[in-house]
Amino acid sequence: MTLVILDIFYYMFIHKSADLLHIELQKQRSQGNKIGFVPTMGALHAGHRSLLERARAENDTVVCSIFVNPTQFDDKADLDKYPSTIDSDMEMLRSVNVDYLYYPEVEDVYPNGEASDDIDLAGLDLIHEGALRSGHFQGVAQVVKRFFEIVQPTSAYFGQKDFQQTAVIGQLIKLCEFDTKMVVCPIVREPHGLAMSSRNERLSPVERDKASFIYKSLLKLKERCFFKPLSEALTTTIKYLKSIEDASLEYLICVDGDTLQEVNDLYDSDYVVALTVVKYGGVRLLDNIILKKPKV
Ligand code: AMP
Repeated sequence: MTLVILDIFYYMFIHKSADLLHIELQKQRSQGNKIGFVPTMGALHAGHRSLLERARAENDTVVCSIFVNPTQFDDKADLDKYPSTIDSDMEMLRSVNVDYLYYPEVEDVYPNGEASDDIDLAGLDLIHEGALRSGHFQGVAQVVKRFFEIVQPTSAYFGQKDFQQTAVIGQLIKLCEFDTKMVVCPIVREPHGLAMSSRNERLSPVERDKASFIYKSLLKLKERCFFKPLSEALTTTIKYLKSIEDASLEYLICVDGDTLQEVNDLYDSDYVVALTVVKYGGVRLLDNIILKKPKV
């Protein structure tokens, strides 16, 4: 198997081997280069592009990984259905001038088999989304830990779209004392408001338009909670989401943005985020909105 390919038209190196990529990036670091890293599972869209562009703007060297990580899928059918669009993904990476693509096989990421020891994620992996998807955040933390050890990025870029994931990665960075800054990028949305996701491909065009009710209801919640108690605003929004035909609300909760503990009042925390998952058109759609954030 060829382990490194140079895409001669765009000077993007495609690595299949963690060891070779690691050596190459060590050279970059020794020259004082800042390394920006964007981990993805491919099927890239404008949301991913925003992370790649930010990494490009803030670093000397940009590394992207495309790896559909089996350990984070609690549902095997979901893993089997995960879309793969490598040709158009490479087009996007070239257009953003990404320097290195890490595109490994499972054996290269987990040479000793899948890690079995749990990482101490301070319980952030067990609540909300984690309670519904057993082992999901352990799988995410394991693969990100492995990637950070290979790439040793100066900064790593993640989307606010997966809000709980950013809290989990923050804990991982603290626990493992990685010398990496996590940069959280805003949610990129489709024209009607649905948060972009590789899974949106499974919706029909009509469903994609209609699914904008999720974001609209979050905006309405934000508006309401500034003139009504949060619990009342939340109840009204939950009632509305439950009334939508063909949709099933999995959860809508307000949490502290750092600890992910539920808050019942806007005054309970300086940083309040509403997290939701709605199943619509057979697809679990995640979204969130920041209701209150401390000024930095
Ligand atoms: P994925 O390929 O789904 O694992 O996503 C890779 C990264 O892209 C994660 O950090 C996601 O949070 C981020 N991402 C996915 N969708 C969006 C979006 N609509 N806006 C911003 N970031 C996103």
